[in-house]
Amino acid sequence: TAKNSNNSTIIDLETRNVNKHYGDFTAVDDVSLKIEKGSFFSILGPSGCGKTTLLRMIAGFDEPDSGDILIQGSSVLGVPANKRPANMVFQHLALFPMMSVADNVAYGLKQRKVASAEINKRVKNALESVDLGDSGKKKISQLSGGQKQRIAIARCLVLEPKLLLLDEPLGALDLKLREHMKVELKQMQSRVGTTFIYITHDQSEALVMSNKVAVMNNGAFEQVGTPSDLYYHPETSFVAGFVGDANKWQAKVTQVDNVSCTTQVANGPALRGKINGTAPIAVGEKVDVFVRPEAIKIVQSGQTADQNENSLQCTVVDLLFNGANSTALLVDVASGKELHVALPQTGEFIGLQKGEALTISWSQDQTHCFSSKFLHPRA
Ligand code: ATP
Repeated sequence: TAKNSNNSTIIDLETRNVNKHYGDFTAVDDVSLKIEKGSFFSILGPSGCGKTTLLRMIAGFDEPDSGDILIQGSSVLGVPANKRPANMVFQHLALFPMMSVADNVAYGLKQRKVASAEINKRVKNALESVDLGDSGKKKISQLSGGQKQRIAIARCLVLEPKLLLLDEPLGALDLKLREHMKVELKQMQSRVGTTFIYITHDQSEALVMSNKVAVMNNGAFEQVGTPSDLYYHPETSFVAGFVGDANKWQAKVTQVDNVSCTTQVANGPALRGKINGTAPIAVGEKVDVFVRPEAIKIVQSGQTADQNENSLQCTVVDLLFNGANSTALLVDVASGKELHVALPQTGEFIGLQKGEALTISWSQDQTHCFSSKFLHPRA
């Protein structure tokens, strides 16, 4: 991360208690965040959670009802979008199809009356930074979807913004190209060093590309952390369920000791697990109980599950082959609940059959219990 002369980290963007309401509806709920210079920061959340509203306020297309937005330490409230050191790349790229690639990229600089020698130099650099140095003379209509996407980014980078704001830029691309562009974008960002703020509802995009991710739900940030923090140490039930694949039960707490609790699923198993999350857990309370598919083991016939593990009798409903990440779909015989179990590619599980009866087990340490209530950080 970039440091200033006092060796403290440079913050490119800060929001302080930002709120936005539409009538009675709270679209953005008291969002505070700090984004370090040079980072790839994603805002991840389901459709309608307020991501675009927040990004539009950072860009200057909307103003918050309360709170402050600072770019490199200066408030930008009231500063029009075209005067903010931030540029936005939209999902629908708004390129000029009849113009050449170079003219598209030069457009913003011409409007700013930059000298033509300078324009040529900056356009060349911007095209090289998106790996399209040879394509300046092509027409936009001659480019593939992924190339157009890169030109839309080059058109913003050429203006040398402090922040590049990306609103689901890969949403319109087909799956294969999206997978490819994820890696491209991450590499592009680390090459140019501009701070990227990327919004997406796709957790795999956010995990692959970002240094840090904010998980947003109902207008509020539930957790901000590195991808591995969010995956291995989720702080709320929503984050545990939204980031990565997880099996989830709704249960009631029957016993609490120190760091663990016992829970009872209605018409289902009793499960023991670790108490997690920011909201406290007490006897009688509703909790969500999670286990990742890769934490579940199949107990070999003739053996019994360890006393300190959770275990269930299941049957195999289906087997989903997906190379290294294949999954067995099982159903808990007693409760009828469907479960996902990750299968190692080779070994004893390959022989599983649909309809086969099995015992599965997993460690209580890998069973995570969260209060089903969300405690807003301001509470
Ligand atoms: P998506 O991924 O679907 O774009 P989002 O997380 O970006 O979703 P926003 O577009 O920020 O969500 O919208 C947040 C909420 O605010 C939604 O429920 C939306 O209906 C509401 N909303 C957004 N703009 C307006 C508006 N101009 N007037 C009223 N409600 C609005």
